[in-house]
Amino acid sequence: MGNYVIRGGRVIDPAAGLDRPLDLVIEGGRLKALAEPGTAMPSAGFEVIDAAGLVVTPGFIDLHAHLREPGHEHKETIATGTRAAARGGFTTVCAMPNTDPPIDTPERVAYVYQRARETGVIRVLPIACVSRGQAGQELTDLVELAGAGAFGFSDDGRPVYDGRLMRRALEYGLLTGRPVIDHCEEPGLAEGASVNEGPVAGRLGLRGMPAAAEEIPVARNIALAELTGGWVHLAHLSARGSVELVRAAKRRGVRVTAEVCPHHLALTDRWLLGAEGNAHPPVGTVPIPESLGPYDTRTKVNPPLRTWSDCLALIEGVRDGTIDVIATDHAPHHWLDKACEYGQAAFGISGLETAFGLLMTLVHADLLDLTTLVGRLTAGPGRILEEAGFRVPYTFRPGEPVDLVVLDPDVTWVVRPEEFVSLGKNTPLEGVTLRGRVLLTIFDGKVVFDGRGLRA
Ligand SMILES: [Zn+2]
Ligand SMILES: [Zn+2]
Repeated sequence: MGNYVIRGGRVIDPAAGLDRPLDLVIEGGRLKALAEPGTAMPSAGFEVIDAAGLVVTPGFIDLHAHLREPGHEHKETIATGTRAAARGGFTTVCAMPNTDPPIDTPERVAYVYQRARETGVIRVLPIACVSRGQAGQELTDLVELAGAGAFGFSDDGRPVYDGRLMRRALEYGLLTGRPVIDHCEEPGLAEGASVNEGPVAGRLGLRGMPAAAEEIPVARNIALAELTGGWVHLAHLSARGSVELVRAAKRRGVRVTAEVCPHHLALTDRWLLGAEGNAHPPVGTVPIPESLGPYDTRTKVNPPLRTWSDCLALIEGVRDGTIDVIATDHAPHHWLDKACEYGQAAFGISGLETAFGLLMTLVHADLLDLTTLVGRLTAGPGRILEEAGFRVPYTFRPGEPVDLVVLDPDVTWVVRPEEFVSLGKNTPLEGVTLRGRVLLTIFDGKVVFDGRGLRA
């Protein structure tokens, strides 16, 4: 069990500065050796995985996903969500606490760990609430929650609106060494809005939220991190101005880290027009599928898809390290939650199983190199977890347990949500052809996903 030789792959391990063909020998679930290609001679009891022509990287780490358990098991469970994650190449997923009940006590943090142990196939790290019941009034006991194993604190799904509450969260966060993660949204500017404010919203007659609805709380959070010395992590940035604020703050030495989602890097608000949006490119790095009509609620996500100018600024942020992490914000929904008019539909995209393929569109368009992309899925989030006191494998270290993915950067495939392991089939990418796919995932030294029968 847990004995493999992975042969002939191009090993990309950004934290170790590795990018060359190597064999990996895994014995008893631990990395025994990184060997020159063709030199690893396995004895009996080893499975051989032929990775010739493929890429091998550390397992992906997702700092932001909604696994919906407890309370919304019709949308997703820890069992289905972790299997979807494994299929997407993720070996660690941080679970957002906006469940029912919300994760705002140490017992509930322990419950997520317990369910993950009982039903999950990869590592799940719970995030706990900033405020009791996510009501934005009374601070939770951050120190106790951290003691129970919460990776960080967030009221995601909604912002921490009150500046005083955020200040105190950052101060108590300092005692724990863990980040306060904010969904940056100015409620007054975003109220009743479901799309980006701009020409597309105007044409469709939908109320838009301006980029300023994100930039204002980004600036506030940076100011409060500067004031308190606390650690703020900004979830799912979507706007050009936000990237510029974070870049300037990092130059001043403010303790701020930031993430971006695949859909905000690769898709624009022109997707709301349906296929006719293709008439005026660029619509992103993927053409809008013919089957997508205008007002398709599967394009509805919070923050909303914005403009190509925003995409380019976010990509530049990923390239220069202003943005530390690519996270999915996997938000699975039941079909009924989207089967209504645009303004009423639930926000969110089921993202775990398309993340890598969608991100590869940036690489194939020469907007991002593969090593940087892998870095933002492995070393970037891995170092944040390490800083918060969680030792999760994000680089290949001899003697340690192995989390790993085998990727084909060039194989094409069509997104078919009915084939998702996730219960959430809500993606605007249905019918889109992507180039690049996860073929095999190893978690803690064991194969948890093998999509192509790579094992000989
Ligand atoms: Zn959010
Ligand atoms: Zn979220």
